Amino acid sequence: MSVLSAPYMHDEAAAFAHVESILWADGPVCPHCGVIDSAYPLVGVRTKPSKKNPEGKERHGLWKCRECRKQFTVRKGTIFEESHLPLHLWLQAIHLMVSSKKGISSHQLHRVLGITYKSTWFLTHRIRECMRDGALAPFGSNGGAVEVDETFIGKEPGVTKAKNARGGSHKMKVLTLVDRDTKRAKSIVVDDLKKSTLIPILQENIAKEAFVLTDEARQYQGIGAGRVFDAHDWVNHSADEYVRPGHPEVHTNTVEGFYSIFKRGMKGVYQHCGKQHLHRYAAEFDFRYNNRVANGIEDAERGAIALRGAASKRLTYARPNL
Ligand SMILES: [Zn+2]
Repeated sequence: MSVLSAPYMHDEAAAFAHVESILWADGPVCPHCGVIDSAYPLVGVRTKPSKKNPEGKERHGLWKCRECRKQFTVRKGTIFEESHLPLHLWLQAIHLMVSSKKGISSHQLHRVLGITYKSTWFLTHRIRECMRDGALAPFGSNGGAVEVDETFIGKEPGVTKAKNARGGSHKMKVLTLVDRDTKRAKSIVVDDLKKSTLIPILQENIAKEAFVLTDEARQYQGIGAGRVFDAHDWVNHSADEYVRPGHPEVHTNTVEGFYSIFKRGMKGVYQHCGKQHLHRYAAEFDFRYNNRVANGIEDAERGAIALRGAASKRLTYARPNL
């Protein structure tokens, strides 16, 4: 059966039940007093009558807490809270975003879901926030290999490309780490590629005992042999060396593979991404990479993981002016 034909993709009551089953595995959690599994469903409650709905609209997923006597739904305290969009549309959007390898544009999603572009834009950024995984353990624990590389995206705000300029100084810069053992990636937007910028970020995200692999770039020289990390080696890309002869483990091909999807997505789908949002797009690509089929995670489970992220995150920035 197609995931898109599941009742929770179309029916609002089923959508609530689906989200509740994922976020409340141990029974409903009262967001007011925190008591678990001591609430009962309020069935048949309707909103106040209005011109548009003279009989009011049915309120789905409404619960009442036995302890504090307050009412709540599973939307409360999650990124779904401030939105008036039906929950089943959220679930459709999440499914399309987690299952499209290179992402899906807000324009396309707006046409598929039949909601305004502005709503879609806001929705997609909230879903990206669900995908952001802030609490990854340091990469390369137990001496594992961690590949590090950078890529250039779009245009750095306020910087014009100098004539005959080479490299990517006029573009936005993303640093990515890939842990070869856990097969996970973490991408971080950086302002520049100076050693003083990059090394503290690496130290924050990579265990000291890791084996760090980079290209020959100067900013990575002198970080091995216990100085910053226990071990460091590199390939010389400028000399067309992609794997060190005789040392098949010395390469950065995994992180380059990640970038090939990231760059195709950013170019083909998200062409005009502002720097203030780039970290969310990066999180979206990290999320799909970390929860990919090769890591044993299918589409439906990937959607459930994003939903669990929804329970703990709310966007703190104001509604965009579009
Ligand atoms: Zn309560």
